[in-house]
Amino acid sequence: MARTGARPYRRNRGRVLAGNPVCVECGQPIDTSITDQYDPGYGTADHKVPYSQGGTDALENLQPMHRGCNLAKHSTPGGPPPPPPRRRPAGPATGSAPPPPVAEARPTAIGAGRG
Ligand SMILES: [Zn+2]
Repeated sequence: MARTGARPYRRNRGRVLAGNPVCVECGQPIDTSITDQYDPGYGTADHKVPYSQGGTDALENLQPMHRGCNLAKHSTPGGPPPPPPRRRPAGPATGSAPPPPVAEARPTAIGAGRG
C-alpha cells in the first residue's frame, strides 16, 4: 500500500459517490451503503486517466464505478478468470467411511459439595 500521503482520493471518492451514483461501466446504481471494500458492489472512484499516465486524484479525473466492474475493466478480455471463492475441501470419495469418534460424556458435578 502507499505510504502516508496527502492524496485527496478518499475525500473526492466521497464526492464522486455522493447522491445517487451510477456505475459508468455497467450503468447500474451503486449501493453506497456497502462498506466492505472487497465486495464487488462496493463503490469506487475510478481514475479516468490512470496514475501511470499522469492522472491525478482531482474530482474531474474520477468517476463512480463498482469495484467488480473496476476489476473487470482492468483485466484483459479472454484472460484467466478470477479465482473462485474459497470452499471447504471435499472429503475423499471412499465407499465406506469409518464411523466418527464418539464424544465422551463428561459427568456433571451438580449437587457436589453440599453440606
Ligand atoms: Zn458497475
